[in-house]
Amino acid sequence: MTIKLSTVTIPQQELTVSYTPDVVVIGGGATGIAAAIAAARNGADTLLIEQRGYMGGMGTAALVPAFCPYTDGEKPVIRGIGLDLMEKMKQASGDIYMSMHKDRLDWVPIDVEVLKRIYDLEVTQSGAKVLFHTFVDQVLSEGEQIQGIVISNKSGRSVVQAKLYIDATGDADMAALAGVPFHIGGEEGELQPGTMCFILSGLDKDKFDKFIQETGQGGQLPDTVTQAQQNGDLPEGRKRISGTAWLSKSVAGFNFGHVFGIDGTKAEDLTYAAIEGRKLIETQLRFLHKYVPGFENAHLVHSGDQIGIRETRRIVGDYTLVVDDFLQMRTFEDDIARNSYFIDIHLANAQSTMAIKHLPKGQSHGVPYRCMLPQGKENLIVAGRSVSSDRPVQGSLRVMPNCFAMGQAAGTAAAMAAESNTGFRGVDIRALQITLIEQGAWLGDREEAVFEVVAAGMSPTAEVKYDEEA
Ligand SMILES: Cc1cc2nc3c(=O)[nH]c(=O)nc-3n(C[C@H](O)[C@H](O)[C@H](O)COP(=O)(O)OP(=O)(O)OC[C@H]3O[C@@H](n4cnc5c(N)ncnc54)[C@H](O)[C@@H]3O)c2cc1C
Repeated sequence: MTIKLSTVTIPQQELTVSYTPDVVVIGGGATGIAAAIAAARNGADTLLIEQRGYMGGMGTAALVPAFCPYTDGEKPVIRGIGLDLMEKMKQASGDIYMSMHKDRLDWVPIDVEVLKRIYDLEVTQSGAKVLFHTFVDQVLSEGEQIQGIVISNKSGRSVVQAKLYIDATGDADMAALAGVPFHIGGEEGELQPGTMCFILSGLDKDKFDKFIQETGQGGQLPDTVTQAQQNGDLPEGRKRISGTAWLSKSVAGFNFGHVFGIDGTKAEDLTYAAIEGRKLIETQLRFLHKYVPGFENAHLVHSGDQIGIRETRRIVGDYTLVVDDFLQMRTFEDDIARNSYFIDIHLANAQSTMAIKHLPKGQSHGVPYRCMLPQGKENLIVAGRSVSSDRPVQGSLRVMPNCFAMGQAAGTAAAMAAESNTGFRGVDIRALQITLIEQGAWLGDREEAVFEVVAAGMSPTAEVKYDEEA
């Protein structure tokens, strides 16, 4: 079958306006979940739209097996809604899970069916409405204002008109549809590969742990993977199993191997990657049966509903966070979150290497509000892995704890903008920071500075200089 690139003009259509919330959140991944909860809790009439029948994005649909670190190695950096959701998942995951992971804050395994229920409960209890099985495929824009979005679902096509729009699609779909400029991938168009994650049962963790101890190679099995690659039992590329997330002593989630050369904004690439990803799992399972003690009886119970996508669009926003900001651990006047996760760019093809750069333990940098403000639009904010950053910073910011933090900030800002009838650029940054801190977020040194301002009886909107970057 070939793709025929000709055009057809479709007849003009009159569409019903189906919803008129204050705030509409498009996408129910980590970003959108936190955004919807924050917007609703702060008083906005909020609607979350999600194409699937559950929330969680990559963490549930693509079976990404664990939450990346919430801490900088010394203390939690990501707090607020994101930390709360993760703790609620742990509590609901049962005694066996808790006996293994109760005190963990970093690389916490995702109990996917429990997490879906926690997201259902927390979002609906916040007062936000949820509309599943609904895809946004058109944005109605007039100048700097979004006038509406066209949604498509079993009920037909209709228009949602909101005051404020939050693009939490992970791919900046809305921003792209609205004509916001964006970058995609590296200079040569290279993108991080996708991974089809999966869950296995029938494992013997004790036997596996003994094997790790005896071989001294660590749980990611670099020696075993290399040996299998040399024997032709695994394809070239990723040199280890990353993120074996144990849910019990016999069940674990896996983020293993890569599918190269795919663009997650293209349906054809997603289709190819789904088929290739499932094919690769068959090979990986044969490898695990043959090479890894404790995995002889491994049984595949579930693979992702879609290939996991690490990287697509990065919008051009009012500020672009760059690698130097990361390395210098800069703080900004308008910080809405802190990030301490390392730069983690996966190889773009089987011959290249990973790009990894850690910050020192206990250190983090600020994430400015302006990164989420797309150029040319007033009532649209973009949060999550597609915010305005260079490629290395995207390789760090993209993980779920950060997405929760950015989502919480976007949702809180939306509620404030709805209340004061402004666009996102009209939001009082100091008031936003204070609300975020009061509602559990951690803004590092900024936190003390903001509270000092309040304690000194100054207006939270007063101009205060913090450091050389302010
Ligand atoms: C293989 C892999 C491994 C990873 N490992 C980790 C890890 O170990 N730990 C970690 O914390 N992070 C990890 N990440 C990163 C992390 O999972 C994602 O970057 C993160 O989930 C992004 O969150 P998000 O909410 O911005 O986007 P997503 O999770 O992609 O969510 C976007 C949501 O929007 C919906 N949507 C998109 N477009 C539309 C539309 N037009 N209409 C309606 N709905 C729409 C989607 O269905 C989806 O639910 C990994 C990612 C991958 C791919």
